Amino acid sequence: MKNDFYTVAAFEYTADAQVMKGKFQSEGIEVFLKDEHTVDVDPLVSHAIGGVKLQVHLQDKEKAIALYNELREYEVDPKGQRIICPACNENRVLIAAPKKSLWYLLFPFFEPKRYECANCGEIFK
Ligand SMILES: [Zn+2]
Repeated sequence: MKNDFYTVAAFEYTADAQVMKGKFQSEGIEVFLKDEHTVDVDPLVSHAIGGVKLQVHLQDKEKAIALYNELREYEVDPKGQRIICPACNENRVLIAAPKKSLWYLLFPFFEPKRYECANCGEIFK
């Protein structure tokens, strides 16, 4: 058996990662939560280490990405309307991964929220 893992997603809270893990397992995909216990012991460290990582075996990668894209919640504006991608008008928009800058590592809360279109990959604010 191979020991290569693919990180499908990262979660700030262990509880969110556990919910997603359960959904993956019900689809027959084996899931590993990396740094789960580190985050449990000290939730404040979650930001610094990038949260709890949901990982799958490399051979489950495609299946896992498809499932995750189906299950994840897309971003909505304060009125509860789905945020629309300015490039392709798709309403499957996600929070973009933060830039891995030193600034972000020091002050994660000052990083402006950026969105990423799940359809075309456009990143916008
Ligand atoms: Zn788009």
